[in-house]
Amino acid sequence: MTTILITGANRGIGLEMARLHAGRGDNVIAVCRRSSAELDALGVEVIEGIDVASDESVASLANALGSRRLDRLVNNAGILERNALNELDWASIERQFRINAIGPLRVTKALLGNLGKGSKVFIITSRMGSIDDNTSGGSYGYRMSKAAVNMAGKSLSVDLEEAGIAVILLHPGWVATDMTGQTGIPVQESARGLVERMDELGIEQSGTFWHQEGYALPW
Ligand code: NDP
Repeated sequence: MTTILITGANRGIGLEMARLHAGRGDNVIAVCRRSSAELDALGVEVIEGIDVASDESVASLANALGSRRLDRLVNNAGILERNALNELDWASIERQFRINAIGPLRVTKALLGNLGKGSKVFIITSRMGSIDDNTSGGSYGYRMSKAAVNMAGKSLSVDLEEAGIAVILLHPGWVATDMTGQTGIPVQESARGLVERMDELGIEQSGTFWHQEGYALPW
């Protein structure tokens, strides 16, 4: 049975990925700051009180897991705050770095002991972090934090290659969640594509960046 840990699993894309994995009988460990009625209804294991921006919090996650092996670690928790050039807010940019860029690295580092040959680490990044794909500008904090997490994922893929651990960056599409004011494709469609990619991609594709629809994205 596949054991999968997902951060930010109480709502949005994280919740939907948890639902799909639970529905096919995988062992889901749903990690969040605070659970939700929808997550509780899945009947999966929930670890609450975990803020990916806090060392102490993430250390308590590692403690709660003990020596359990994870087949998949999905770094999904993230925030989007708009920062146009005429309204730059340094605190907001730093917050997005702490959560979106450092958060996945902090969680992955803390859980390295739970990963081994054949494990897959996924980072739910964004096409907005693609430098090649940026034609509309703006969103400084979000774009910069996602470009930074792409680099963290690439370095992790190099550093973990010898241990046989894959690290893959995934873009979910523009998805109707709280983050986007419920505009975009249905969250079920995005999660379905993400789970298909998680099934199909592995060590051979480690260190690459994918759209959930199944094609590679430029950095
Ligand atoms: P939501 O806003 O619906 O959910 C965000 C999730 O992240 C929530 O579970 C939230 O928990 C959690 N989270 C935020 N900050 C923290 C933190 N400090 N510690 C722990 N958990 C945290 O967003 P989505 O589901 O849409 O986004 C999921 C991922 O997908 C994000 O990384 C996002 O950047 C990425 N993405 C989304 C796109 C979209 O169109 N929706 C497009 C491209 C990428 P809480 O309820 O406690 O706030």
